[in-house]
Amino acid sequence: MIEGEGMATERIKQPKRKNPILRTRLPTLPPAARSRVALGLTAAAARGRFELQVCRDCGALQYPPREVCRTCLSHRLLWRVQDGRGELITETVLRAAQELFFRERLPWRVGIVRLDAGVNVVAFVHESVAVAPCRVRIEAALDRAGKAVLIAVPENGRSPLSDDRQLREMTCDPRGRKVLVTDGKSALGQAVVRALAAASADLIWIGEAEPWKKIAGFAALHNVPQAKALPLDVTDGRSVRELAGEIGGKVDIIINTADYHRTFGISNRRGIETAQLEMDVNYFGLLRLAQEFAPALKARAADGPANAIAWVNVLSIYALENFPPHGTYSASKAAALSLSQALRAELRPAGVRVINLFPGPIDDEWDQLVLPPKLSPAAVAAAAIEALQGSVEDVYPGDVAQDWLARYLESPKTLERELAGDAP
Ligand SMILES: [Zn+2]
Repeated sequence: MIEGEGMATERIKQPKRKNPILRTRLPTLPPAARSRVALGLTAAAARGRFELQVCRDCGALQYPPREVCRTCLSHRLLWRVQDGRGELITETVLRAAQELFFRERLPWRVGIVRLDAGVNVVAFVHESVAVAPCRVRIEAALDRAGKAVLIAVPENGRSPLSDDRQLREMTCDPRGRKVLVTDGKSALGQAVVRALAAASADLIWIGEAEPWKKIAGFAALHNVPQAKALPLDVTDGRSVRELAGEIGGKVDIIINTADYHRTFGISNRRGIETAQLEMDVNYFGLLRLAQEFAPALKARAADGPANAIAWVNVLSIYALENFPPHGTYSASKAAALSLSQALRAELRPAGVRVINLFPGPIDDEWDQLVLPPKLSPAAVAAAAIEALQGSVEDVYPGDVAQDWLARYLESPKTLERELAGDAP
């Protein structure tokens, strides 16, 4: 008998307020040490994929990951996407655990899944899965320490991790949370605010730079009941510091939508003022936010269910490789990507997840000259919410970003030459 079987899963409730007199606990995280070879599983899970090693010489599929092929001892192993379909052949409920993290969160439903592809894996079992034996699908997710775990979900349909009382700990679901959207004036920022409201965020602080500039879409956000506009200019250190002083101790999720984007490459523009503005918003803006908000988020990572949980950066697919018609903008986004990796390394020990979004061209005024397909701001916002509700670190919304990513993983040098116009 599985605990809780037959009961509808309770929805996520709004976290209780923190008692300001109680001492803040240190976060307990799942054990994080993993071999270098096992990081392949984590790298795929970070992009929302389940990959296993396949031998290039004999074709054998293997799990767990190893340095060499268990069949022919070849070193030529490739990570390949798996559909994860298989059978849950046996399961148990863990009621004792060595590690503090798992002990604090007992019981855990775990099982062995025989993949159709031919190997057995050990996985956490989602509570919507029927009692073994039954058909399931394996998904890879990141736990709070940022390493891959395998999860068995029903073979068909969608089973969000946040619908499972235990597994939801691996998500950053915005339901009932307090969220800061750093720039609510752009079309993307407005779309993110609306998506957060639809996802039942408790409170949405919206950064408003240049309050004297009236923008119709921004004014319309007044009818979002949980939204509250606050002055925030990410190019002004004092403005960022003042806001961090006001809400840094309360915010659970930061979504950095601040973005400055102008077209043109290097030689068709004089001076460096535009490039400086791009760096000031896209790179230094992130740095100012990180310096002022990250210490507060780290300190609150163990505040029980009212903890700080995530930081989302809206980057661009141009951060991976320079797109010369948007040359200086690409460079500012590459700098922001590099900085966000440092931020991720600093926040991970506290269990705060940094999620990077790499959208392709967005349907706004600065990508007008880029050929379709282009993403609507609403599609990018939806991808951000889905990433929070799931368990990933890097998201590539849209066909263009997916295509660039595939070509980048195949050969960064080839993609560089293609973007430079070398391909026919
Ligand atoms: Zn082999």
